[in-house]
Amino acid sequence: MQNSRSTKLFQQALQSIPGGVNSPVRAFRSVGSDPLFIKKAQGPRIYDEDGNAFIDYVGSWGPMILGHCHPQVVAAIKAAVDNGASFGAPTELEITLAEMVIDAVPSIEMVRMVSSGTEATMSAIRLARGYTGRDNILKFSGCYHGHSDSLLVKAGSGAATFGVPDSPGVPADLAKHTLTATYNDLDSVRALVAANKGSIACIIVEPVAGNMGTVPPKEGFLEGLRSICSEEGIVLIFDEVMSGFRVAYGGVQELYGVTPDMTTLGKIIGGGLPVGAFGGKKEIMSLLSPAGGVYQAGTLSGNPLAMTAGIETLKLLKQPGFYQKLEEKSAFVAEGIAKAAKDAGFPIYSTRVGSMFCAFFSKDPVYDWDSAAKCDTKAFANYFKAMLNEGIYLAPSQFETAFVGASHSTEDLELTIAAAAKCFKAL
Ligand code: PMP
Repeated sequence: MQNSRSTKLFQQALQSIPGGVNSPVRAFRSVGSDPLFIKKAQGPRIYDEDGNAFIDYVGSWGPMILGHCHPQVVAAIKAAVDNGASFGAPTELEITLAEMVIDAVPSIEMVRMVSSGTEATMSAIRLARGYTGRDNILKFSGCYHGHSDSLLVKAGSGAATFGVPDSPGVPADLAKHTLTATYNDLDSVRALVAANKGSIACIIVEPVAGNMGTVPPKEGFLEGLRSICSEEGIVLIFDEVMSGFRVAYGGVQELYGVTPDMTTLGKIIGGGLPVGAFGGKKEIMSLLSPAGGVYQAGTLSGNPLAMTAGIETLKLLKQPGFYQKLEEKSAFVAEGIAKAAKDAGFPIYSTRVGSMFCAFFSKDPVYDWDSAAKCDTKAFANYFKAMLNEGIYLAPSQFETAFVGASHSTEDLELTIAAAAKCFKAL
């Protein structure tokens, strides 16, 4: 594969941008190679600066559920920009998207827009702390909720990939308020709750974990969190930044029928533009400034271009049969890859919820961070590079999720499975 232009750009980027990238996992470092610089994308394909084309399963890390450059979304953004890129004043577009989100997500009665998932989760825990008057929060190892200080404790995604789940720069005085339980292990939650009685403001969880690879909740796990929180006056926050509008229109809470007190969103609701949101019960959301005293703000919050992209994306997702078709495509490709591995005698553990899937390089089941961390990351790195050579663009880490989008055709999926079969045989 010709990659001289990407290599040159990366060398140049290293001089002006730390590590050459604006978000760590993009650097391909954990798979021992250099990143491709992307020039454009269309439908299910991305194209790098050297003119190589790839079938894309990263989808900008989740937002591009429709594929890249959906004509309806592009046309709406182009029309919106003619009216001005940002006003810092209220618009009708914000009400439209807020009402669509409230309509879709069972737990959300009121919602505030922000510009990233990090802001959404950071603000949601501040609000939970303000609402309960408690300081501690509980999260799960291997779950990633963005990079705010309180949440960079035993974090997943890039933090796990690069071995810094507890980042330098987070004051110990703050980190001590973050309690960490084991995903899918209610006993670990009960023990922490009992030991910190009356001091836990919220439990924040990825209800389908997507930042240690894809790890579905075990039967009863989400229900158990719901009852512990109700009994103890703890705010239950589902971080659906990744899973919201992804595994179902109403997210994991619709799919599994468990309703949290608050929900954080991002990625898909911005249709590829920078957006996050947090919402929940009116009783809690009413404490937010200027209605209440818990402060939170943003110069670009509710940005008209981002609202427009979100509205158009959600309209398309709402069309009858959308999620059914996506489910069928996702099952086809995830099962095809798992079978290709098996036929090649290569042990993988395959997981999938809706259009989120993962091939763990492990012969044993993966259900929490410790079991995920046992994966053969060296073999994964070789698989990643081999797939890239075959024209398949996966996330450059074992601890990430692959996303299927509506624009992936059956032929794209068949090409992907054939490429996987070839790569597993070669490993
Ligand atoms: N929560 C979850 C579940 C995420 O997957 C992510 C990003 N991958 C975030 C929060 C942070 O979102 P952002 O990168 O937009 O700040």
